[in-house]
Amino acid sequence: MSPSTDSSPVYLDYNATAPLRPEARAALLAALAAPANPSSVHGFGRAARSIAESAREQVAALAGAEPKRVVFTSGGTEANNLAIALARAPVSGPVGARPGVTRLVVSAIEHDSVLRPARASGLPVTEVPAGPDGRVDPAAVAAALDAGEGPALVCLMLANNETGVIQPVADVTRLAHERGALVLCDAVQAAGKIPLDLAALGCDFLTLSAHKLGGATGCGALITRDDWAPAPLIRGGGQELGQRAGTENLGGIAAFGAAAAVARASLPEQAARIAGLRDRLQAALTGACPAAVVYGAEAGGMGAGRLPNTLCIGMPGVPAETQVMALDLAGVAVSAGSACSSGKVTPSHVLTAMGLPGQAAREAVRFSLGWASTDADIERAASAWIALAARKVK
Ligand code: PLP
Repeated sequence: MSPSTDSSPVYLDYNATAPLRPEARAALLAALAAPANPSSVHGFGRAARSIAESAREQVAALAGAEPKRVVFTSGGTEANNLAIALARAPVSGPVGARPGVTRLVVSAIEHDSVLRPARASGLPVTEVPAGPDGRVDPAAVAAALDAGEGPALVCLMLANNETGVIQPVADVTRLAHERGALVLCDAVQAAGKIPLDLAALGCDFLTLSAHKLGGATGCGALITRDDWAPAPLIRGGGQELGQRAGTENLGGIAAFGAAAAVARASLPEQAARIAGLRDRLQAALTGACPAAVVYGAEAGGMGAGRLPNTLCIGMPGVPAETQVMALDLAGVAVSAGSACSSGKVTPSHVLTAMGLPGQAAREAVRFSLGWASTDADIERAASAWIALAARKVK
């Protein structure tokens, strides 16, 4: 993506999906240039297998994990569903012996790909809200675990997709393990934006999505700390360690590997550059409209903070859909913090879980930046939002 000129659209919706990185596009096209089924024993198959295994190493390196623990999936949504299914199934045999979990403790700010399978699981689910700073309190997770009985799975994302607030996953994992619980950490938004280290997080399951870091849509990964019995979710051939049957999406996997490698190599320098742009945008918006509210900027304490690329901001009295449409007309693509379905904007479940009243939770939009964002993008976005605020905010 080339830097925007005055007429080209400005894309600031990286938390929805990032533009494909050139390195990922090249890897995708190269992987699809020949017949490519990694299970075939002939030379074509062996070449395909070697592409998949290199990508597995690149994705594992991004997460500080062992390549043999990486299972490629169709995306973050499937990886989260798969982790919950694995945790529920009792394990016995060569991979060890564990009872399946009988209850779930889930942060109320999780993505729907965690919340919905949790709620549909038929197991008791405790939803733990976040504080006003957007952060889930580890003590609240411990209290939820102590209030019930039986093996539990705790689900806590590493960074929230709407506010960017980084969650105290390592602390929660420690408390959960002391209580015999497993932990699923959805690192879909954190990967490639902040350093990721599976050993430091200590969680049992970590999930990633390729398209959030410049790979292609339709590919993700579940990374496990241990061996698990074959997944009860998708049965068929024995691909992906028996955890995810079906011929591999080789192009998507190759692009994921390439995107993960570039994201990892450029992380410190890109994170600083992008945080600089985000901070300038935030200062411009709050300077021009002092009534605007920034969500998640106050998150503090050990292991807390905000993703460098995310700005969730409310314009008082102006519904998120009005802001998104006005920005779109000005050629700037952003998302509403709240979900819009069948023409009705519902309050953001994340902001609601932080204790915000319904109206405020309907007025937040999310600017999310990334690898191709430029100074010019920020200027265009700021002037469009400020022009709207000047018309609408009394
Ligand atoms: N988890 C989080 C935190 C997300 O933001 C998203 C996508 O928005 C997902 C999971 C789902 O990922 P995918 O689009 O790869 O299914």
